[in-house]
Amino acid sequence: MKKTELLAPAGDKAALISAIANGADAVYFGLDIFNARIRAENFTLENVEEQINLCHAHGVKAYVTLNTQLYNKELPLMLEYVGKLYEKGIDALIVADFGVASLIKRYYPDFEIHASTQASVHNKNGAELLNKELGFSRVVLARELDKGSIEYISNSDEYETEIFVHGAHCMSVSGQCLASFCMGGRSGNRGECAQPCRLPYSIGKEKGYPLSLKDMSLSTHIEEILNSGTASLKIEGRMKSSTYVGGTVKIWRELLGKKRSANKQELSTLGALFSRGGFTDGYFTGNINKTMLGVRSDKDKEASLLQEKEVIELDKEGICLSAELYIGKKSKLTLTYMEKSVTAYGDVVERANNAPMSYEDVKKNLIKFGSTPFYVQDLDIKMDEEIIIKNSSLNALRRASIQMLFETGRKAKEITLEKPKADTSLGKIKTAIFESIEQIPENSDYFDIVFISAEEYFCSQSDKSRVNGIALPPVVLDKEWSEVEKMMSYAQYEGIKYALVSNIGQIERVKKFGFEIIADFRFNIFNSYTLEFLNGLNIKRAIVSPELSLAQLRDFKNQSIIAYGKLPVMVTHKCVLKDTVGCKAGKGYLKDRQGAMLYTRCEFGHRNVIYNSVPIYMADKIKDIENYSHHFIFSDESASEAYKIIEAYKKGQPANTGIKRIK
Ligand SMILES: [Zn+2]
Repeated sequence: MKKTELLAPAGDKAALISAIANGADAVYFGLDIFNARIRAENFTLENVEEQINLCHAHGVKAYVTLNTQLYNKELPLMLEYVGKLYEKGIDALIVADFGVASLIKRYYPDFEIHASTQASVHNKNGAELLNKELGFSRVVLARELDKGSIEYISNSDEYETEIFVHGAHCMSVSGQCLASFCMGGRSGNRGECAQPCRLPYSIGKEKGYPLSLKDMSLSTHIEEILNSGTASLKIEGRMKSSTYVGGTVKIWRELLGKKRSANKQELSTLGALFSRGGFTDGYFTGNINKTMLGVRSDKDKEASLLQEKEVIELDKEGICLSAELYIGKKSKLTLTYMEKSVTAYGDVVERANNAPMSYEDVKKNLIKFGSTPFYVQDLDIKMDEEIIIKNSSLNALRRASIQMLFETGRKAKEITLEKPKADTSLGKIKTAIFESIEQIPENSDYFDIVFISAEEYFCSQSDKSRVNGIALPPVVLDKEWSEVEKMMSYAQYEGIKYALVSNIGQIERVKKFGFEIIADFRFNIFNSYTLEFLNGLNIKRAIVSPELSLAQLRDFKNQSIIAYGKLPVMVTHKCVLKDTVGCKAGKGYLKDRQGAMLYTRCEFGHRNVIYNSVPIYMADKIKDIENYSHHFIFSDESASEAYKIIEAYKKGQPANTGIKRIK
């Protein structure tokens, strides 16, 4: 069996060194752009080579996170970055954007890519499709999965899986969070998350932190995770200190080596390094309840301050050096490290007229490995007597040989990127999703497609004649397919034509029922290549990301945009209502510090969708969005309110309440 990889975060150089010194098998870090932790002190393209070489010299793999959604205009620069990282020998890129992934594979087919947790993979179909269609060799699974789901998805010969085993939890399923974008304009999908889930909210009479999850730790489930079939165990924390990284990696290395769970002392050390009132394993074990919640208290912060800040220096790796310096011949230097041997040639050695160099003179220059990860363990210098060669020549020879040791043999390409051709056959349509049949107003014939959730369609006893589309739940676990397929089968029998699909792992399943697929905004379409990829899967129409500005929308002519409605800002795997006001009604309101009311609805599988407090409203700005298809989201509006909104869009009326604009 392959060794399970321990993968550590490296937000800065000190953390990188701590991770290596304490036994990480691989590290991941971001560069100063295109990564989901842009507040961390990131590495740059200029200094990344040094970090890669450092990792490789110590037998550690280095992955770079390229895990944000990118706009069309950023893609040429992205490809330049990718080319340089390829050349410098990064072992894999961690990618969230399907368009970005398709471009990387188009130009660098042998560059290994891993699907970021931001790609929202939570079932086997998702992992398989990303592997087959985009060439992802590894998939980082959603943090919400339980042990059984992890085992099921990990059982594959085609791809490997990676799971988070320690560190922060997001309240929303990753890649499905618009909260930070909606509440302050900082996009989580673009690496700018302001963590609104850590703020206080009240619900009913309860005040507290119903969206703040404790950090996870699976350190008490070592045997189970080692037997789960996953290839890599990831520690979260690119924003965290080197003390945290070093201390956490050290304990995890020990546990994995001994195949045993953490004891009390180790758990307390892990907690002191960083926790939010202790740890949770709720998603892994399936014990999803309010004990999963926690905030970082003063006591937690004090405990972290007491942790010793070690200044760690890495031990140097021994290397074999042999040199040949013969008069009239080119100087020659061979380095051997692990399985690799390289030979560099330098200036010609000359006969000294007077003051020839001694063996010691030569040695002094050749063993200067000061700033490198190496020291010379075995030295073999063969030389004529009476030679002379400049010190600078010897230095150059040494540097050239070290350079060769890190040579990857890969070359960046010159790439001229052209935008994919838009599908001009696509007409403009109007679509809407309603929460219930009762909510659908008389004037719903304004829409070409009226969606309700597959579950509502299946369960409702009301007259469904106005409905011609079903919407899949945002998350469907493998074990839930039988239930969802039952719903789809019924809808197919009833003559439903369209399906609004939320996730990469739903496409194959939905196709079997013959529905025409429309990709929901949850696919995070930020660029034309993501759309092109979906087109290639025979999905012609999609609702592009609501994060796009009017200017950025121009590349998506006739495609759908959300023209009205409260945006779903989170999908939570844990029912917020159940643990607070109770989930009998299946709906409620979270109130934020400013008094804004966030409609919260319990859906399929007790997952919640939390909506923004104000709707997107463009009725009086319809000219701005006339080149696109329009999608309306109705959440807590009554049927009569929905009726008025549709009339307002027909007549171009301004709104009379708080709204959000597409800017
Ligand atoms: Zn619920």
